[in-house]
Amino acid sequence: MHQQLAESQKLDALGQLTGGVAHDFNNLLMIISGSLHTLKKAVGDDPKCQRALSAIEGATKRGASLTSQLLTFARRQSVNPQAVDVAERIDAVREVLDAAVGSAVTLQFDVAKGVWPVMVDVAEFETALVNLVVNARDAMTGAGVIAISARNETPVGEAGAGGHVAISVADTGVGIAPDILSKIFDPFFTTKPIGKGTGLGLSQVHGFAHQAGGTVKVASELGKGTRITILLPRKETAVTAEDANAVEIGGSGT
Ligand code: ADP
Repeated sequence: MHQQLAESQKLDALGQLTGGVAHDFNNLLMIISGSLHTLKKAVGDDPKCQRALSAIEGATKRGASLTSQLLTFARRQSVNPQAVDVAERIDAVREVLDAAVGSAVTLQFDVAKGVWPVMVDVAEFETALVNLVVNARDAMTGAGVIAISARNETPVGEAGAGGHVAISVADTGVGIAPDILSKIFDPFFTTKPIGKGTGLGLSQVHGFAHQAGGTVKVASELGKGTRITILLPRKETAVTAEDANAVEIGGSGT
């Protein structure tokens, strides 16, 4: 228990530090972006200058995407849970996912009919899906299959409104070595080269699921592939992490 508390205090401190740096850095990027606009106009069509400015623009965009991930990790971005139709949201990101995986990889969708709505932040939900699919893509060297599925799960013996929606991303990639399995959700843990991995993708997925009152499961076999499943409580039973904490802090009074 103490260890858990120390761990969460450490994460809080890390979040505060990261959030502060990311926030200030983002302001600097905005200044660079704004000035780029002026410069682009000023240099006219000198190809060398335009190329250099485009390179700066590309780097600025990557920087902005990184600070956005850092701010999400630090929970500086507000979340807005609402009733979300899972099938509709998966459909909405289809094109983005297609573009992310490229043509060598086959994307399969298997969304069951009548999947229950869930209470989540739409942007966080879509980011989590993209993060899982990008990881699946990175786990494959050439061709392969990424299967995205969603279905309802009702625990045995539970009647009425109980149950979860299971959203899975399964790949035919390299798999995850057992000795790193316990670390993959840690913020900043990555096995990817510098510039490619931030170690924040699965941390976002975990944070998103937890905030929505759900969990994340991993099943992986080396050389065969990985399946990561986000389990979200159906809307009727959703208790978010904030609600749960409020109950814990306030006590039941009995
Ligand atoms: P990043 O993708 O930036 O490395 P993540 O937090 O998303 O950060 O992932 C952490 C690590 O977990 C990855 O570097 C990789 O080693 C491992 N991982 C995540 N998803 C998969 C997957 N589908 N197959 C194999 N390894 C994975």
